Amino acid sequence: MEEDLTTDLTQLQSHLETMLERVQQNSATLQKFQAFELRLLKLNSLSDIIDHLLEEAKNYFDLDVVSLCLSDETGEIEKTLNSYSYSSKNGLILLDKPLKSKAVEAYVGAYDSTLCSGFFPHIERQPTSVAITPLTRRGKYLGTLNLGSYQPDRFAGNMATDFIDHLSSVVSVCLENNLNIEEIRRVSYIDALTGVNNRRFLEQRIGEELRSCQRNAEPLSCQFFDIDYFKSVNDRFGHQGGDLVLALVAAAIRNQLRNNDVFVRYGGEEFVALLSNTDEPKALETAERVRKTIQALVIAFNDVSISVTVSVGVSTYVPEGLSIPVDDEIAARLVKAADSALYRAKHNGRNRVENGGVVSDKRVL
Ligand code: GH3
Ligand code: MG
Ligand code: MG
Repeated sequence: MEEDLTTDLTQLQSHLETMLERVQQNSATLQKFQAFELRLLKLNSLSDIIDHLLEEAKNYFDLDVVSLCLSDETGEIEKTLNSYSYSSKNGLILLDKPLKSKAVEAYVGAYDSTLCSGFFPHIERQPTSVAITPLTRRGKYLGTLNLGSYQPDRFAGNMATDFIDHLSSVVSVCLENNLNIEEIRRVSYIDALTGVNNRRFLEQRIGEELRSCQRNAEPLSCQFFDIDYFKSVNDRFGHQGGDLVLALVAAAIRNQLRNNDVFVRYGGEEFVALLSNTDEPKALETAERVRKTIQALVIAFNDVSISVTVSVGVSTYVPEGLSIPVDDEIAARLVKAADSALYRAKHNGRNRVENGGVVSDKRVL
């Protein structure tokens, strides 16, 4: 009898110890989750969130592989990341097409190549167990967070998934929030009428462009365009006609530039381009090409054809005083030089290109 009681007590004790161990483990996991989520909530850029998920999740949760699929049918996420010069990480997959509905469901269990390989591409060693969790917010599918382990029993089909569900909800909220912010930021830099960037964008980018050209010891050219006698276009064809001309002229100039050139509607019927790694002769040649393109442009409006011309002023920044940081003053001088050249182009008869010359960063002592 006494022996039975001792055995029962020993069993109870061992049971209690196992339970205690589990409680401690759960509490440690919970703490890690909270720390991970707190950090995630504090991040305020899309690229930081992506980095945190891909790099830190492994350490926090002792995982071997983590990847993130983001739905990017419009290509906006890719553009946003490019604008931050974000260098693509191995675990980031941008999806330009919608996933098949089956793949959008959560999956926890053994790695199954037909089901899982798309979520873990380009990795040397496939995980043996995985948790693929859809990221959704307000019914919108944002992508999936994919966790993988080399331990076969790490993610089992019958395991409780509350932690993972919780994590995916928090990740979804953070992602949606940042995607919305990026969208607002992107839209705030776009001119609604022409669809090209606006003056705010130029102000935000010009310093960056100048610094980059200075670092690489490359020239940067500025072109200032103004449509000639645009007021009379409005007078003859109404504002609707004028608006159409603005949109088509903007598109035609944009078309003549490189994708990475900055091009903005500066105001009314004025546009500015910044051409990186472009010297004076090349900038003048491009401006002349644009001038001819606009001259040849025939815009059909109702039953009439509208033709316009542009005057262009060009200026070029040449880095010389390499140790002097480029500041707002150089940016202002560059734009001012192109604007003054444009004024001369108007004065000298319009539909022409004038050179405003070189703006240097060398200090005159
Ligand atoms: P110049 O050859 O000297 O540049 O003459 P201009 O007539 O082009 O220049 P001016 O500055 O006198 O007129 C610019 C006109 O552009 C006046 C303004 O009503 C018109 N404008 C500005 N923004 C818009 C717009 O968004 N839509 C339309 N339709 N017209 C606009
Ligand atoms: Mg003007
Ligand atoms: Mg004008």
